[in-house]
Amino acid sequence: MAEAAEAFGPTHPEIREQVARLCCDFPGDYWRELDRARAYPQAFVEALTAAGYLALLIPEAYGGSGLGLGAAAAVLEEVHRAGCNGAACHAQMYTMGTLLRHGSEVQKQAYLPEIAAGRLRLQAFGVTEPGSGTDTTAIRTTAKRDGNRYRVNGQKVWTSRAEHSDLMLLLARTTPRDRVERRTEGLSVFLLDMRDALDKGLTIRPIRTMINHATTEVFFDDLEIPADSLIGEEGLGFRYILSGMNAERILIAAECIGDARWFIDKAAAYAGERRVFGRPIGQNQGVQFPIARAFAATEAAALMVRKAAALFEAGQDCGAEANMAKLLAADASWQAADTCLQTHGGFGFAEDYDIERKFRETRLYQVAPISTNLILSYLAEHVLGLPRSY
Ligand SMILES: Cc1cc2nc3c(=O)[nH]c(=O)nc-3n(C[C@H](O)[C@H](O)[C@H](O)COP(=O)(O)OP(=O)(O)OC[C@H]3O[C@@H](n4cnc5c(N)ncnc54)[C@H](O)[C@@H]3O)c2cc1C
Repeated sequence: MAEAAEAFGPTHPEIREQVARLCCDFPGDYWRELDRARAYPQAFVEALTAAGYLALLIPEAYGGSGLGLGAAAAVLEEVHRAGCNGAACHAQMYTMGTLLRHGSEVQKQAYLPEIAAGRLRLQAFGVTEPGSGTDTTAIRTTAKRDGNRYRVNGQKVWTSRAEHSDLMLLLARTTPRDRVERRTEGLSVFLLDMRDALDKGLTIRPIRTMINHATTEVFFDDLEIPADSLIGEEGLGFRYILSGMNAERILIAAECIGDARWFIDKAAAYAGERRVFGRPIGQNQGVQFPIARAFAATEAAALMVRKAAALFEAGQDCGAEANMAKLLAADASWQAADTCLQTHGGFGFAEDYDIERKFRETRLYQVAPISTNLILSYLAEHVLGLPRSY
């Protein structure tokens, strides 16, 4: 019995408790104000940084806590469960792996202790481009070697947090697509120090969206960067970011679980309190069942998130599980969001309840960082062996 509880109960209970406590200082009105102004949650990010959560995955030798992805997932789930939003800073957790696994010792020594101490932020991940969409290998941003430098030209879109980050993990093509055997070859990853680049060929323009996400478009106009910004070997960048993408899917899935639990708690509480026709609305099965269904979907998705994180931590292949975790958790959070809104009737639309804000925020995860269709296509073609559609 105790073993079963340990196997399926919440992981990292102490971290969860501490995060929940920290989040109490950032209640709904804090997020509502920011949402109206489309402003960055500076104080919240500073609090997470000071508590060491954003350095969780950095090995102790470089000043971090040296914990695994499961701990990071626990942090982000609790952030979202408390009604907060980790999107302002979650990228530091999933971009970190590329630097840890493929960066040189010199790069790690130069950046990791500074990131761990909160003096540097690695929050921007420049992959998506307007012309390529989900087809990452079709990106057109190039980095051409020129002596001891690279010249970067092109454009990224949806590069979130670029204005609030010192560093960007940038994917660019170093060998033209028609000169490589496979389209996944010839791409490289750079650790771009944006502090040296602004006004020297790097331009960042914010994009106003339906959520407060600090997302931007980024332009590279003959930007010169030192050759030692390259991470690992030239041409292997696609491979390097793939495992980072699994981490990203698992962490976003954990956020979705947190969102789903927040919506379910709210819905259940309101259904128990709100009286219409002389009785609580939650006494009607038409109100109860959607909440119960969302709860069941969330618990099932949470198990898959946990499995994917465990496989990732063990260094095992987790492509299928990371994708399924993201799919199931994003579906569960969206189901819970819709149910919560419906349970609240008209009041669900009032800003003061925070539901409409969280509803908008969790909707993103049907699209980013990978859309539902593309996950289904991965499962169908790569896991089930169905014919390739693209
Ligand atoms: C708020 C926000 C923040 C983001 N932050 C970042 C970031 O920090 N860094 C970054 O690099 N990117 C970021 N993204 C980009 C995000 O990863 C992409 O939007 C997402 O991967 C989808 O790509 P796309 O928008 O180009 O859609 P497209 O690829 O143009 O696809 C459009 C639609 O068509 C569907 N579709 C496309 N091809 C197929 C197919 N073969 N079969 C079936 N359906 C298909 C898709 O599922 C999707 O619904 C962000 C996006 C948003 C909205």
